Amino acid sequence: MKKLFRLLFRVLLFACIIILGFVIINTLGYSSKQIKVDTINKTDIDDKVAERLGGAIQIPSVSTEIGIDSAAFGQLLSYIDSQFVLVDSLLDKQTINEFSRIYKWTGRKPNLKPILLLAHLDVVPVDKATEGKWEQDPFSGAIKDGYVWGRGTLDDKVSVLSILESIESLLQQNYFPERTLYLAFGHDEEIGGKAGAKSISRLFQQQGISFEYILDEGSLLIKQALPSIKKPIALIGIAEKGYVTLNIAVRLENGGHSSIPPTEGTAIGILSKAIATLEEEQFPAQLAGASKKMFEYTGPEMTLPSKAIFANIWLFEGMLLRQLEQNTTTNAMVRTTTAPTMIRGGIKENVLPSTVSGKINFRIAPGETPESVLDYVKQTIDDDRVIVTINKETAMNPSKVSPTNAFGFEIIQKTAQELFPDIIVAPSLVVAATDCRHYGEVSDNIYRFMPLMLERSDLKRIHGINERVSVEGYKNMIRFYQQLIRNSCK
Ligand SMILES: [Zn+2]
Repeated sequence: MKKLFRLLFRVLLFACIIILGFVIINTLGYSSKQIKVDTINKTDIDDKVAERLGGAIQIPSVSTEIGIDSAAFGQLLSYIDSQFVLVDSLLDKQTINEFSRIYKWTGRKPNLKPILLLAHLDVVPVDKATEGKWEQDPFSGAIKDGYVWGRGTLDDKVSVLSILESIESLLQQNYFPERTLYLAFGHDEEIGGKAGAKSISRLFQQQGISFEYILDEGSLLIKQALPSIKKPIALIGIAEKGYVTLNIAVRLENGGHSSIPPTEGTAIGILSKAIATLEEEQFPAQLAGASKKMFEYTGPEMTLPSKAIFANIWLFEGMLLRQLEQNTTTNAMVRTTTAPTMIRGGIKENVLPSTVSGKINFRIAPGETPESVLDYVKQTIDDDRVIVTINKETAMNPSKVSPTNAFGFEIIQKTAQELFPDIIVAPSLVVAATDCRHYGEVSDNIYRFMPLMLERSDLKRIHGINERVSVEGYKNMIRFYQQLIRNSCK
């Protein structure tokens, strides 16, 4: 018996040594994916750019499901035309569905595939209940304490204006691109992008135009993005999650009197149980696609022991996933998320309603579809009394994953590292929806990155209160687009 134990112990020890050997070899060979570039000198930029951004913030181009304020959008387009006179006179300009814009800057070499920069002109409304919490009026465009304040300074007038500033300045320097550059600014991104991005993309398809790469908002340059990395990380979105809302309802023959509730369950009870079950039985988590890629780029930059863990995902995946699931942000990167957003039922405190309904919003991880989400939900609830239907109007598959070994990604990475020394660049999965989901037919290389450095705590300002951008950060955005155009269009 003793002999057997000794043999077993030896086998186990041998297996451990082999595994440890693999772990060490993988960790030692886990090489950096950052590229070596020379930092460029930062050009001087006039403070007037901040005032011009402030002027655009003052125009409340708000879009909501109820509609848009046409006068404000008309005013915003006139403002842009009056402020960027060289762009207005030297680039081809086209207005789509009244308020969206396309610009074309024709390059000298028509054989080079064009590139496309995206941004959007609309902003989300300001919640009336929070108005008093703003340090500066949300539509003041005030410049104070080194920041431009107001709705749109992060999402996304800041992109529109910084792209236009960069081109206006290049035109002033008599720069002309070799490669053709397009700009497309939608006016309804915050409500789905049908009249803007979707229509513009269709137009490009009709004209047979396809792009070398497309760059839109989505991810940012974030300080303290990951606990085990001190440097800021430029997260370049290479994919975005899909979107579906499921309608969920219980319709009983009869509601009845609340003094004699039915023993087989009430409509409210049945629906609540279904929702609670869905929250308990989350979609399976997995480390794949864009999320996995992010760790391939950030892992080598980590210190031990994190570096060893990410170098050996084959061994530590389960443990890693459990950790990622604990954090709200990283949880959204590894699974389809379940978010009950609306519930309706009941008319009086002593009447049992016969019908109750609700809506659950899912952000779909790559590899799944709105239909597979519906199947999973039906199976998980497993109750015929609960009717689940899909809201086809807004359903959207997850995007394709754009490559990291393509010209577009490499140029964005190079430009970011040239301008911001001491950062790490990594691909990532965008968990929210952007306009570029409509452009899948016109390019395989779609990237989502705003070249703005933010603290993690600043992220809640997007769509929230006290939205603001630092003047220096804004100037860096202009420098980034200038350098990106110079790098891409030669
Ligand atoms: Zn946006």
